[in-house]
Amino acid sequence: MKIHKGDNIMMLNGPDKGKTGKVLKVTPADNTVLIEGLNMVKRHVRGRKQGQKGQVISKERFIDTSRVAVVCKSCGKPTRIGFSVTGEHKVRICRKCKSEVA
Ligand SMILES: [Zn+2]
Repeated sequence: MKIHKGDNIMMLNGPDKGKTGKVLKVTPADNTVLIEGLNMVKRHVRGRKQGQKGQVISKERFIDTSRVAVVCKSCGKPTRIGFSVTGEHKVRICRKCKSEVA
């Protein structure tokens, strides 16, 4: 996975285009990520007991990784991620400024 938990990302399309948020979860099997406060869906929840009010709950929905870009901490731009191998370690690098993405 090029995107890790805790990364700062930017939405590339959709209603949240251009917005940034933190990655809460990644699902490598599906290639999807969950971003804090982005791609929200509203759910109407009915009151379970009598007299209890129904509620509208907003919840994040998983997004395909192709719709987001990692924001580089060094240059502050949304970028594509490359890999660089130094010794035994494989590190992620920003394709724009070539610095390591932690
Ligand atoms: Zn950069």
